[in-house]
Amino acid sequence: MPSVFIKTYGCQMNERDSEAVAAQLVAKGYTLAPSEAVADVILLNTCSVRDFAEQKAIGKMQNIAADVRKHHPEVVLGFMGCMAQSRGQELIDRLPDVDLVLGTQKFHHAANYLDEILAGRRDKIVDVAAEQGSEATIREHLLNGNAQKSVTAFVSIMQGCNQYCTFCIVPYTRGEERSRSIPDIVAECRQLVSQGVKEITLLGQIVTSYGKRGFGRAELPLGQDAQQRVPTTKKTSFVQLLDAVHEIDGLERIRFTAPHPKGYGDDLIQAYARLPQLVGSAHLPVQSGSDRVLKLMHRGYTRERFLGIVRKLRRAKPDIGITTDIIVGFPGETEDDFEQTLSLAREVQFDNAYIFKYSQRRDTPAAEMPGQVPLKIREERNHRLLETINEIGKRKYDAFVGQRTQILVEGPSKKNPARLAGRTRCNKIVVFDGSERHRGQLLDVKITRAGSFTLYGDPAIVNL
Ligand code: SAM
Repeated sequence: MPSVFIKTYGCQMNERDSEAVAAQLVAKGYTLAPSEAVADVILLNTCSVRDFAEQKAIGKMQNIAADVRKHHPEVVLGFMGCMAQSRGQELIDRLPDVDLVLGTQKFHHAANYLDEILAGRRDKIVDVAAEQGSEATIREHLLNGNAQKSVTAFVSIMQGCNQYCTFCIVPYTRGEERSRSIPDIVAECRQLVSQGVKEITLLGQIVTSYGKRGFGRAELPLGQDAQQRVPTTKKTSFVQLLDAVHEIDGLERIRFTAPHPKGYGDDLIQAYARLPQLVGSAHLPVQSGSDRVLKLMHRGYTRERFLGIVRKLRRAKPDIGITTDIIVGFPGETEDDFEQTLSLAREVQFDNAYIFKYSQRRDTPAAEMPGQVPLKIREERNHRLLETINEIGKRKYDAFVGQRTQILVEGPSKKNPARLAGRTRCNKIVVFDGSERHRGQLLDVKITRAGSFTLYGDPAIVNL
């Protein structure tokens, strides 16, 4: 049977889509190639959020077409995901070596299309049409893909985005919000837990909008007990989903990403206090600290509202870890606006932040806005904000030294596979000297040292 190599660019949603495609192909008898040089099929799962990500994938495909095809003329080449969706046929016109272009609602057709191409029944395939029900098709997992038991798993709960932030291409590449039903998601989570998974991350472009468009609240099958836990507020569909997943025996930790700050109503904030398995970590993409820029971005909240959410979250869960996304150099951003972002970062004391230089995306309103900020200024602001975030992060990580904390051991450390790595409930990586038998365990470790956004634990006091 043919072998496949999938390279993924971009977010966790893309990682999850790639895993589902790989699992689908393995179920059909394909093997996973260890490198692109020996693969019969090479798929690039692409990201369109910034131009840089698109250029990287295009450059990679050009290299593959030039190098790999020379030694292996029969290799099948494909683009999938966001850039495939937004560029479609244009990709084959530009790179005629490409055989398959598969959009974001079509991942589940990958195996059939590849069979057709490999058997010579079809030459080029471009499929980027919308498909009803596709949100429920990202369900296969590859838990033993690297011959090791997976402790953590990602579960896609919805597809698409209706926020239309003025900078963002996602609503155009991922389509309208569509949510899977709670029973469907719970069944997938249950299955994963029965296979040894201890931590599940619920995934979507805007998880806090879960269920807002796809189905009515009446469909949600929750027990009386779960319904009565928050008598004062009406729960959103997303919080009802958290409740339902929380009922699964054997599931130790629940995470989710990405939420939208405006989706942090009181019911979600209370969920952090009342659901023990919901970890104390929140990724709150703020994007800017300036109300003027937030309005231009169409974010739907003010600086004060954002700070209010952070205050409430910390009251509900004092040791919560809070991370964010920030864009620097949005069109029209002045030095004063940027200073407000710096001051917000200091005020919130984020545990970490992903900083993005604004990138013009076609068909988005911000691409046409006046006051596009020159690259030099975007780079300079990126650098200054990074220094602030690093400084705050260092203080926050140093404060862990000497403390005991619980980690879920995930497997070998990425940087040094001789050591093991786990995560705290507030989502900080802890590296320690352990052994394979610790994988999947919840361990108390003592933090002995803090590095750059990594903690180190002392093996001597690991509880056995
Ligand atoms: N759905 C999440 C939200 O908006 O709350 C995040 C999704 S997006 C894939 C991840 C991050 O990329 C965004 O939070 C934003 O900071 C960044 N991003 C999106 N569009 C961008 C652009 N045109 N230029 C630079 N960064 C961008």
